[in-house]
Amino acid sequence: MISFKHVNKHFGDFQVLTDINLEIKEGEVVVVVGPSGSGKSTLLRCINRLETITDGELMVNKKLLNSKDTNINDLRKEIGMVFQHFNLYPHMTVLENITLAPRKALGISTAEANETAMFYLNKVGIPDKADSYPSQLSGGQQQRVAIARGLALKPHIMLFDEPTSALDPEMIGEVLDVMKTLAKDGMTMVVVTHEMGFAHEVANRVVFMDHGRILEESEPAAFFSNPKEDRARLFLSRVL
Ligand code: ADP
Ligand code: MG
Repeated sequence: MISFKHVNKHFGDFQVLTDINLEIKEGEVVVVVGPSGSGKSTLLRCINRLETITDGELMVNKKLLNSKDTNINDLRKEIGMVFQHFNLYPHMTVLENITLAPRKALGISTAEANETAMFYLNKVGIPDKADSYPSQLSGGQQQRVAIARGLALKPHIMLFDEPTSALDPEMIGEVLDVMKTLAKDGMTMVVVTHEMGFAHEVANRVVFMDHGRILEESEPAAFFSNPKEDRARLFLSRVL
């Protein structure tokens, strides 16, 4: 579903990603961990081409990302992204926030978009909030709306960039639970998170990054019990 081959990415003179090689199959959940500034967000953002790679090959759902023939708007419809900050429109209801992109980008009728939105609001456990405004919701509920909004485009891939980092501790669990359900349903997911419990329980693989490189790629049990790299060991000793 996603394939990085010898991918490099520069911001001017600064090399942010170095020789990234990573294969993610359909239905896999890959958790990316590593210190702040190691390139995790940039790696995710390359997948939906919020950032362009400098060289190497990046394929997403059989399409080459750095090719003129690839329609980026079509590609983005296949990929949902959830950020640390939920970025809901404050002047729109939950339902309007979720249906905006399907109506505008996919040209789906309001009735059908509403039906789809309600399906995903049920899935994230807050169908009763459809007519509320974001300010009337808790942080955890707002993030669940953001996930429903991503799902409403019926993507093949969901990217999560520290989705629980801005939440109060008591709300982290409800968002992780929604993500676990998605994983069980077979969604292909790439998740940047510091929630090591989630990584342990849900990930098929853990990818450890440092200074723009993938230093280790392991099954969670192996990664957490016996990391191969000293830097991964040091990182774990700080976050666990
Ligand atoms: P992480 O998500 O692991 O914290 P990032 O991918 O956000 O790391 O950033 C990796 C490095 O790239 C950091 O040193 C950051 O300052 C730098 N960086 C990120 N975005 C840009 C940008 N648009 N221009 C220049 N440097 C950037
Ligand atoms: Mg980041």
